[in-house]
Amino acid sequence: MNLIPMDIHAHSQHSMDGEHPVADMCAAAAKLGIGVFAITDHCEINDFERLDTAATLASSFKDTEKAKALYAGKMEILTGLELGQPLHDMARTQSVLSQYAFDFILGSVHIVKDREDFYCMDYDSDALNIEFELEAYFNELLETIRWGGFDSAAHLSYPFRYVQRHYKRPFKISHWDDHFEAVVQLLAEKGMALELNTSGLRDTPPYTMPDVRWIRRYRELGGESLTIGSDAHVPQAVGAGIRQAVQMARQSGFDYLCYYKARKPHYLSIKESSS
Ligand SMILES: [Zn+2]
Ligand SMILES: [Zn+2]
Repeated sequence: MNLIPMDIHAHSQHSMDGEHPVADMCAAAAKLGIGVFAITDHCEINDFERLDTAATLASSFKDTEKAKALYAGKMEILTGLELGQPLHDMARTQSVLSQYAFDFILGSVHIVKDREDFYCMDYDSDALNIEFELEAYFNELLETIRWGGFDSAAHLSYPFRYVQRHYKRPFKISHWDDHFEAVVQLLAEKGMALELNTSGLRDTPPYTMPDVRWIRRYRELGGESLTIGSDAHVPQAVGAGIRQAVQMARQSGFDYLCYYKARKPHYLSIKESSS
């Protein structure tokens, strides 16, 4: 077994917040001996035109296909996509998904329909109703999972990193336990994957998205498909935190990790005995 079995969430210069070629990201993964690696550039459905996504998608897919051929037999490379806010324009979403034969689709909610981005909210303002904003986040996330046109739910709890850092009034994340429970339950019921995103492990204090207790809960509720991703935007971050995440997965009751090839789930053993 590879020490780093997979890292299936990474961005290249074909994402608005990335600047490194697909080839450089893949070379970093190969150097670490990663088993399965995916490029999952952004496709923010709500902002498709402004970000010139038709062009970035085409380039990301083409460059990743090239890398896939280059590393064939040495490392499994997946053509992936981080599909943000798919419900904001379903016709657009369907057209993107039918245009390219992606291996793997991550589903994300970065911004709730008709609301402000959590990243930009004025956390000092008395007008901010954080309960309302988070309720709206969970509602959209649940609706996106009910639609189900993606493989793995990316970075569940994403808004909380901003809220916990910037919100000045009393705030308890445990208040949202029922909402987290509803999300992992729905994923498990629908046989969809949950992502353990390690990008927060590079932060202080370190955290994962979601917290490991929701990984365990998803497993308890019958969820079988856990994907792991670093969400790397630079070659140096490729594979970061993955070994720690594999330990968390084992401790949460997973013997296998999941990845998708041609949108079909495949399972990789992480049993200690098989290493
Ligand atoms: Zn994201
Ligand atoms: Zn990402």
